[in-house]
Amino acid sequence: MTARTRLRATSTAAVAALTAALLVSTGTTADADRRDPRPPLPDSATAYGYGGAVTSVDANATRIGLDVLRRGGNAADAAVATASALGVSEPYSAGIGGGGYFVHYDARTGKVSTIDGRETAPAGIKPDAFIDPATGQPYRFTPELVSSGVAVGVPGTVATWDRALDRFGRLSLKQALKPSIDLARRGFVVDQTFRGQTLDNAKRFAAFPDTARLFLPGGDAPQVGTRFRNPELARTLESIAQRGPEAFYRGRLAAEIADVVRSPRVDPASGLPAPAGSMTTRDLARYRVVDQKPTSVQYRGLTVHGMAPSSSGGIAVGEGLNILENYDLGALPLPQALHLYLEASARAFADRAEHVGDPAFVDVPTRTLLSQRFADTRACTIDPDQATPRPVAPGALDGAACTPAQPTVDESDTENVSTTHLSVVDRWGNAVAYTLTIEQTGGSGMTVPGRGFLLNNELTDFSTVYDADDPNRIEPGKRPRSSMSPTIVTDRRGVRFVVGSPGGSTIITTVLQVLLNRLDLGMTLPEAVAAPRASQRNTASTTAEPAFIEAYGDALAAYGQQLTPSGDSFTSASEIGAVAAIEVDRRGRLTAAAEPSRRGGGSAAVVRPSRR
Ligand code: GLU
Repeated sequence: MTARTRLRATSTAAVAALTAALLVSTGTTADADRRDPRPPLPDSATAYGYGGAVTSVDANATRIGLDVLRRGGNAADAAVATASALGVSEPYSAGIGGGGYFVHYDARTGKVSTIDGRETAPAGIKPDAFIDPATGQPYRFTPELVSSGVAVGVPGTVATWDRALDRFGRLSLKQALKPSIDLARRGFVVDQTFRGQTLDNAKRFAAFPDTARLFLPGGDAPQVGTRFRNPELARTLESIAQRGPEAFYRGRLAAEIADVVRSPRVDPASGLPAPAGSMTTRDLARYRVVDQKPTSVQYRGLTVHGMAPSSSGGIAVGEGLNILENYDLGALPLPQALHLYLEASARAFADRAEHVGDPAFVDVPTRTLLSQRFADTRACTIDPDQATPRPVAPGALDGAACTPAQPTVDESDTENVSTTHLSVVDRWGNAVAYTLTIEQTGGSGMTVPGRGFLLNNELTDFSTVYDADDPNRIEPGKRPRSSMSPTIVTDRRGVRFVVGSPGGSTIITTVLQVLLNRLDLGMTLPEAVAAPRASQRNTASTTAEPAFIEAYGDALAAYGQQLTPSGDSFTSASEIGAVAAIEVDRRGRLTAAAEPSRRGGGSAAVVRPSRR
């Protein structure tokens, strides 16, 4: 039964009341133009209270999620509504042209479930898809590969929303999408982040006339303070709301998506090569999300649940925590605790590179990689006083005690920085951690003409150089390895933390660092989110925010740790990640914590605020 039909079948009084409330709240289109019934936007990165909480990077999206909670929707309902709103107001990070990972905690059963809504490679993709036939050489990552049809994976987001509502929700897809349809139609006020992201993309957006028409109206990025409306996206979402996922995966829209991917509508005068992909309508019709068991590890008496492959997030965060379980970090000098964090994460990255790919195609030793025994063989290669030369080798899976850490080849990192994350807890204690993306900021740069949304370039997450032994090599129908790490932490009473972040492969270290800050280093959740970050991904030097280098650079140098200022070559931003997190304390009080300043500041809200 689909989410659309389920509502009709279970028309209890409670659901009927909720339905009525939502339909009244959002009004008809004609009403919408006359009055604005929306409550004011949450204007804070931190909120305390009871009755449910939502955090995301965007105030419009957080408000929409909170509204669903207030009106009796549950965590899954609010997560889908918030995600759909992020596709409107954060269209360069997420939307129906992309994919993601949905982690759900059911308070009644205590069960954690996940949905893998990752984009997949078309059936017709070839191992040499990233080689330019004209030269026999690999396409350059930028600009050829990132702005291309060949990098577009079959999107999974619409199917994820439908599945999430069907499995966990109370609302129909039609109800959950209604607020974001209104948002797309009414528009949102452009802020500096949106304008800046548009300008960062302006050159390649201009190369795709359909994209330029939408995001560069009049030839410029929308000005800060003006209202950005996307009626084309409103119509697309409306057709999905009316007809369900079929409206996306079959019929006219599916044909249009396949057409754009196979024949990118690039302006020849731009000189952008935009190589074509092979996606067909059959690829879209055959797309399925995967219901996955979560990863879980024990850390400091808590259970940390994450996303299993095709994401490497749950494995890498879990292995990092298992390694660090060997140390009493809180009792050590802070620089030494940070040194151990960097050493643990280098090893987790070595192991994910060696072993993690789409489990439908490669055997991933998930259980071994997440065992405390394996982590102990990794911890014992760490010198508590001195950095190991990097890159470190992956560990032996056969349980060999203390696998020596020999340098190996470097893992090249081509993941970009974009994506978005939202966290929700509802009044019953259900929770959702959901990270969704179209890969880099602006995705492939290609919109589906007249449909109001960008297509992803997620297939760039495959290893760009083909190697038949690489678990993340290109294969038809395969999901590229992700770093997305939506995480839910529980104890015997229920959910304690919901955490996640964007940021390509820095997602893993960001989630790890926030958990360490909160659980070991004596910080509150808002402090743990705000603290400066460093990301060690098995490279000689560690990427770190300037504030981290200033605070700890000298002290870490004494441990042989070398730090390099972070900076995305694409946007020149120096931030690592953009966390949206929630904590539930032992008495049920909620702390919702978004970023105070990264990405222009996030948005946290609770249903019944209390004082700090
Ligand atoms: N494509 C990345 C991944 O799946 C996420 C993109 C990003 O956060 O920049 O890991």
